[in-house]
Amino acid sequence: MKKTATRLADGRELIYYDARDDAVRDAVDPRPLDPIATRSEIRHDRLLGDRVAIASHRQGRTYHPPADECPLCPSREGRHSEIPAADYDVVVFENRFPSLAGDSGRCEVVCFTSDHDASFADLTVDQAALVLEAWTDRTAELAQLPSVEQVFCFENRGKEIGVTLGHPHGQIYGYPFTTPRTQLMLRSLAEHRERTGRNLFDDVVADERADGRRVVLEGEHWIAFVPYAAHWPYEVHLYPKRRVPDLRELDEGARTEFPQMYLELLRRFDRIFGPDEPPTPYIAAWHQAPFSVADRGEFALHLELFTIRRTSGKLKFLAGSESGMNVFINDVPPEAAAERLREVASE
Ligand SMILES: [Zn+2]
Repeated sequence: MKKTATRLADGRELIYYDARDDAVRDAVDPRPLDPIATRSEIRHDRLLGDRVAIASHRQGRTYHPPADECPLCPSREGRHSEIPAADYDVVVFENRFPSLAGDSGRCEVVCFTSDHDASFADLTVDQAALVLEAWTDRTAELAQLPSVEQVFCFENRGKEIGVTLGHPHGQIYGYPFTTPRTQLMLRSLAEHRERTGRNLFDDVVADERADGRRVVLEGEHWIAFVPYAAHWPYEVHLYPKRRVPDLRELDEGARTEFPQMYLELLRRFDRIFGPDEPPTPYIAAWHQAPFSVADRGEFALHLELFTIRRTSGKLKFLAGSESGMNVFINDVPPEAAAERLREVASE
């Protein structure tokens, strides 16, 4: 893998991750861009104790551009995109319309491939391995920024999820604080430690394995299951069997096996609702330990993959109970979801 860092015309950082060690990346961004002026502000909700990023400049962001104006495709003569090169493998750059910026963290875009019409599930094992390297490297780099406490690599796929660009890409948020969901997990972790002396993540994975009904896929280094209390109609959690706090600490065995495990899960997701249904909208979310919490070594890196589609042509909306009270109603029993996800395994 070769990494080349450069800058876009407005000063934003862009990094190429190339499979070939002899890749040359000297294309210059010729666009006359104004320097970015981001006004993102983190406000504290005194009742809930959580934070909201107010980012008014995002209202003007690129919204469903036609394919020949895609800002994530490579540049060509007369049509300059966010990526100055004529082709690329994997590229990461700072978002022009960030929800978090400056002292309030950082937002990056990850282009998984230069092929506009592909999706992550179409990548080869080698391409997916390069994306994993990019996620890992960004986690290491963002860990060095004083404004970043937790790194969140994720993908929103499908217009149903609100994706405004069709090109296969994900995002990386560097939050300046520990996120509320992670805080809840850390609290459960501490309580479980106090009560049992054991690690909660280890116990959850061991219990799912022993039960077996919700296990979807198991390799030598990874295990995927639908959680006992799944919130979403189809939801899978993928854990490395050797617990590590973040992507930087995955060992070679886990790194090598990850692409085939993840690609298989994504391909199964696209088969859940049958061949006539459009691609399954999903969110794929990496959970990593915050950098400065006391028991970060106890945290378990894992990926949560879920769809908001509950049945053919119907979406699960976060309505009154979910949005109003944080109480999820899931119409698909987790055991049935796991069975479906085993049925649609690749041949
Ligand atoms: Zn594109």
